[in-house]
Amino acid sequence: MKIIETVNLTKRFGEFVANDNINFSVEEGEIHAIVGENGAGKSTLMNCLFGLLKADEGDIYIKGKKTSIASPKDAIKLGIGMVHQHFKLVPSLSIAENVVLGQEFVNGIKVNYKKAVEEVKKVSNSYGLKIDPKEKVQDVSVGVQQRIEILKMLYRDVDILILDEPTAVLTPQEVDGFLNDLIELKNKGKTIIIITHKLNEVKKCSDSVTVIRRGKIIDSVKTKDVDEKILAKMMVGRDVLLKVQKGESNPGDIIYQAKDICTYNKRNIKVLDNVSFHVRSGEILGIAGVEGNGQSEIIKVMSGLLKTTKGVLEFMNKDITNSKPCEIKDMGIGIIPEDRYKHGLCKSMTIYENMICGYHKRKPISNKGFINIKEVKKNTEELINKFDIRIGSKSEGVGKLSGGNAQKVVIAREVSMRPKVLIASQPTRGVDIGSIEFIHKQLINYRDEGNAVVLISSELSEIISLSDRIVVMYKGKIIGEISCTEASNEKLGCLMAGIKEDEKVKA
Ligand code: ADP
Ligand code: MG
Repeated sequence: MKIIETVNLTKRFGEFVANDNINFSVEEGEIHAIVGENGAGKSTLMNCLFGLLKADEGDIYIKGKKTSIASPKDAIKLGIGMVHQHFKLVPSLSIAENVVLGQEFVNGIKVNYKKAVEEVKKVSNSYGLKIDPKEKVQDVSVGVQQRIEILKMLYRDVDILILDEPTAVLTPQEVDGFLNDLIELKNKGKTIIIITHKLNEVKKCSDSVTVIRRGKIIDSVKTKDVDEKILAKMMVGRDVLLKVQKGESNPGDIIYQAKDICTYNKRNIKVLDNVSFHVRSGEILGIAGVEGNGQSEIIKVMSGLLKTTKGVLEFMNKDITNSKPCEIKDMGIGIIPEDRYKHGLCKSMTIYENMICGYHKRKPISNKGFINIKEVKKNTEELINKFDIRIGSKSEGVGKLSGGNAQKVVIAREVSMRPKVLIASQPTRGVDIGSIEFIHKQLINYRDEGNAVVLISSELSEIISLSDRIVVMYKGKIIGEISCTEASNEKLGCLMAGIKEDEKVKA
């Protein structure tokens, strides 16, 4: 039975058609994956089903009945729950309190905590989702937070779960467990709709898959009938290179060097412990590691956001230790930050303004203290074309852009300023396949023009396929170095887990 169906659903934002005459359906009890490039209209469609957006045209049928869904409350009443990419939990409250929030058993003015804990325990046990209801949300990992969001929905007795890019925030280690949780939920009778960029995840967990491109449904197929290559082609409308094509590197002089860097975090814990590395012109240095082992701190130190307490940073043989962020950019170091919204973009500003952010004092952008608007517009238009940035309105804030397009804005800006070293942190996180291919090509071209690239990524396959040399971080230290010819998932995996080659032999 079709549990959800949309008939000729259309949703516009102004003139822009985000969902174009969508006929989409999900069978009861299946896991249905939705794939499509960034900005294709996936979240928009799901938001229409969850009552966060109202479609301009078309009908929605739930369990065969035509319905109108005006709010999330309506959706939940109809048995539809949704978990968003950005969680909406209260960090200072316990897991139990977060789950029952809005439906509390109130005792006078206080939540009946004991009852909440019991109830939440019951629900989590019955679906095999391991949590401790008494723990505070601020103390648990992102993976657990996601489980809490799902529990919140299950607690409200929904039988259809919509998950918008749930794996984007998980570490590779967490993903497998999460996909198994979904299969378990399916076995318990739930219907699941999952949006993801990772085609291997589609293959691992889904029964059917729908491809959306530029607001239109391309096709819905049984997962077993397609492979990753076919799906990638359906998503982007052309053949996609799933493997990076790159020639041999031609390394020159050392351009950037870190010598015995140490630094502490806010809680006074040593997060970088005598870290040394260098990168040459014409070379991509990969920094690998399980998230939380010091990679973020390296980027912060390199970009001037965190001070070193010991050690030296050198750029073109000049000591630049503890320079300010603006000085670092001015010297010719480009930065693609890990969190594009926190450090890379200003959401409320337009694409024109964002394209000069941090570089607005430079010629020819600025002339005698005035911004040359004509130059900025011309430059931005060129970059929009060259980087294929899909944008609804150029006069609106870039906060409206989908993740991949927002990332392209940052990359376009940084590369166009021609830095000698480009620091790229998680350059393709949450980005669709077509854009990943494009971004990878840009990084390799940049290397081939004789520049240095420092790549930090939690995506092992990205590190392996792009880097010429790889250093691995573990507990704030560099635990090993591998050349691209000897790098393998297994070797890197061991180092990332803190196991050195010689120790492995002993064990
Ligand atoms: P996806 O989830 O597939 O990445 P979205 O559904 O978020 O894509 O967005 C589809 C398109 O609609 C994008 O081009 C995006 O910029 C645009 N869009 C989404 N929400 C809004 C909004 N509230 N106002 C204007 N445009 C929007
Ligand atoms: Mg989306």
